[in-house]
Amino acid sequence: MKLSFSAADEQFREEVASWLQQNLQGEFEAIRYRGGPGDEHMYHHERHAWEQRMAQGGWTCVGWPKQYGGRGCSIEQQVIFFEEYARAGGPGRVGHIGEGLAGPTIMAFGSDAQKQKYLPGIVSGKELWCQGYSEPGAGSDLANVKTKARFDESKQQWVINGQKVWTSLAQEADYCFVLARTDPESKAHKGLGFFLVKMVQPGIEVRPIQQMTGTSEFNEVFFDDAVCAADDIVGAPGDGWKVAMGLLGFERGVSTLGQQMQFQNEFNEILKIAKGNGAAQDPALRQRIAKAHTELKIMRYNAMRMLSGQSGGDGSLQKEALIYKLFWASWHRELGELAMDVLGPQSQILEAAPYQLSRLQAMYLFVRSDTIYGGTNQIQRNIIAERGLGMPKEPRP
Ligand SMILES: Cc1cc2nc3c(=O)[nH]c(=O)nc-3n(C[C@H](O)[C@H](O)[C@H](O)COP(=O)(O)OP(=O)(O)OC[C@H]3O[C@@H](n4cnc5c(N)ncnc54)[C@H](O)[C@@H]3O)c2cc1C
Repeated sequence: MKLSFSAADEQFREEVASWLQQNLQGEFEAIRYRGGPGDEHMYHHERHAWEQRMAQGGWTCVGWPKQYGGRGCSIEQQVIFFEEYARAGGPGRVGHIGEGLAGPTIMAFGSDAQKQKYLPGIVSGKELWCQGYSEPGAGSDLANVKTKARFDESKQQWVINGQKVWTSLAQEADYCFVLARTDPESKAHKGLGFFLVKMVQPGIEVRPIQQMTGTSEFNEVFFDDAVCAADDIVGAPGDGWKVAMGLLGFERGVSTLGQQMQFQNEFNEILKIAKGNGAAQDPALRQRIAKAHTELKIMRYNAMRMLSGQSGGDGSLQKEALIYKLFWASWHRELGELAMDVLGPQSQILEAAPYQLSRLQAMYLFVRSDTIYGGTNQIQRNIIAERGLGMPKEPRP
């Protein structure tokens, strides 16, 4: 197993760290350690400006091929980039859905015209995206999508009707990739289309959903004769499932590896509190702190194992990657509980009226959703069983 990075990679690490040190300061000082899940509503405009500063330095889309404006970094370098970013307290990226999901999907399945039209806006950090997959009756069972897209011959455009739900950052996004049914008679994964839809138009209404953190990071999105240009469907009508699944492969990709450094930041904060308020002396809490620390190291070694196993430099990860989401999501949920227990009675007190939570309180509440989005724990277990271990598939009606 590979336990270290090459000298060239370590030099790259220094380059990343030094750029961040020089740029993540001054006007951007306030957004260090801010944003990201549970804190997405904070400093949106400042973080959008930061996204564009990163683009100027050539630090957006580091894993994309150079021909599309990326940096062409290897998997190792991408991990290093994400690690250093988190170590420096880099704010939650407002462009992550475009960079991590929309862009790679357009590169893999889109037309040349779509690549030219959409990729530069993502690389420059100017145009933001959201993901229109889930519907009230289609979450884990995504193939149950009911939103419809009909082609209007007279206007030569697609007309979309239906509803999406849990659409993260729809309120800030310029575009949404929407999975919709092009054949109204079709069922399950057949007869779907994958559309690139402009968010600000009369046919789209975004209604924020208030979370238990008191904030609204996700939304309901209603499509009422929303329109989409004829050539803004990715792949052929009816081929949407293939494109949608390709995209989910990117979602389970390398960017999640660097998040360990962010977890380390949270763990360090909890440890500091535990040492300060005496919680670290409590044998039961001490044991849980040690367990969290050990499991964080396990995640790190699993990441290194995945990197060691990569084949042929095609950017793909091995089967080991299948266990990662289940492991980190469960670990993070437990970390939230540990944080509250370390804080003790103080965890029950709000920072300020009317409902201002501290970062750890917001983290505790938000991490409940880590085991749901991006595939629930139960679905991850199915994936491990079926794709990783080759066990029989669960019966599907
Ligand atoms: C914070 C957050 C952000 C999100 N952001 C987005 C977004 O930007 N865009 C988007 O499209 N969606 C988004 N989602 C939606 C997310 O992808 C879905 O919540 C997720 O896929 C689960 O679907 P569901 O909520 O409909 O639950 P359901 O699919 O209804 O599942 C309910 C329960 O049944 C279990 N279950 C279902 N099927 C099986 C099975 N076959 N075997 C075993 N157990 C099963 C599930 O594990 C779960 O416990 C977000 C969700 C959250 C919480």
